[in-house]
Amino acid sequence: MSVISSKKMQPESLMMSHGHNPENAESSVKPPIFQTSTFVFESAEQGKRFFQLAYGLDQAAEGERLGNIYSRLNNPNLEILEKRLALWDGAEDCAVFSSGMAAITSTFFELLKPGDLLLHGAPLYGGTDHFITKMVKHYGIDTLEFKSGESEDEIRQRITRGQGNLKMIYVETPTNPTSAIFDLEMCKRLADHFSTSEDKVILVVDNTYMGPVWSQPLKHGADLVLYSATKYIGGHSDLIAGACAGNAELIGQIKGFRTFVGNMTDSWTAWLMTRSLETLKVRMEQQARNAAILAQRLEQHEKVGKVYYLGLLQESDPAYPIFKRQYSSSGAMISFDIKGSEDEAFKVLDNLNLIKLAVSLGGTESLAEHPFSMTHADVESKRKRNLGFTERMIRLSVGVENTEDLWDDLSQALGKI
Ligand SMILES: *Cc1c(COP(=O)(O)O)cnc(C)c1O
Repeated sequence: MSVISSKKMQPESLMMSHGHNPENAESSVKPPIFQTSTFVFESAEQGKRFFQLAYGLDQAAEGERLGNIYSRLNNPNLEILEKRLALWDGAEDCAVFSSGMAAITSTFFELLKPGDLLLHGAPLYGGTDHFITKMVKHYGIDTLEFKSGESEDEIRQRITRGQGNLKMIYVETPTNPTSAIFDLEMCKRLADHFSTSEDKVILVVDNTYMGPVWSQPLKHGADLVLYSATKYIGGHSDLIAGACAGNAELIGQIKGFRTFVGNMTDSWTAWLMTRSLETLKVRMEQQARNAAILAQRLEQHEKVGKVYYLGLLQESDPAYPIFKRQYSSSGAMISFDIKGSEDEAFKVLDNLNLIKLAVSLGGTESLAEHPFSMTHADVESKRKRNLGFTERMIRLSVGVENTEDLWDDLSQALGKI
């Protein structure tokens, strides 16, 4: 059988085959679901060897590979998915989790220890914000927040004054729901500045909004990239999952943590995601095409105030060169302010028909929600205002529907106010 060289091809060409050998599965074109908790060893000696490798008691010999042991440690569906997902980011390895929050919190727990300082961007996804502002302090970890647009010098001085032991820089870019962007090259310079030869400061990026198709943070200096795979990667609003990708050493550590916490995903969800990856690029491209048209029309609508969408950035905006450098598309998320207050925003949301009133994003169907009172309900109002949220803001995740049908729905709902 001819071996496909994965080096030369683009990820979308490899999503139907990479990591699956039909010879291992009764010649099936598609990987079957390995719905099993445990795997049979050929001999006791083999079982002993697999455990030595799995628990790092011995190094693998040249060409030796870890066999299947038990589905909390490894499972073919997870391995195929992880190999394919890693291709998009150009990552050496990837770990898939039972949710985006499981991926994020496991990365924190594995890499941070008491006394460390976590520098994080704001705003963040509501769940991550809750975890950072309310929970990590129980583990003796200090946190410091910064906003996009703050100067490198300012941030550096704040870290020095705080005398913390900076260990991780964590950003979500573009931000949810305000579409502000962080300069990853600046974050990388900060990480390098505070790194020592024994203790490297790790740059971690939540790439859920733009990845993995339109942005690859590892190429801009990030050490790890995180996903809620519930969103674009799953893409059909029918599963919850997460992922972390990066170099083999860090992912190996994080997989070790996952083994003992047991928050990997199951084989069925991994299989669904493997199926989703085949259409990832075509879905995201159609979503972005729809979003570009809707954003332009929303901006001209008499009932709409500010539109938060990367494609509307002006060339004179200091964020524009960062946008051009880090992203290959404007994405498919739009936030916009209704002229009015929460009442008017609710009226629009209550009158949408094709577009569903629901949180989450990245699925094939368009969804609308009210960030101030829903996804970010938990963030203190004053802090929300300071970060650019308004009560009249609606967040729209644009799906793959017909563009004119989407616009008809939006414009009739806007017509109700
Ligand atoms: C949804 C989301 C998460 C959390 O992921 P879950 O799969 O819901 O656990 C984290 N970050 C971002 C940006 C998200 O949109």
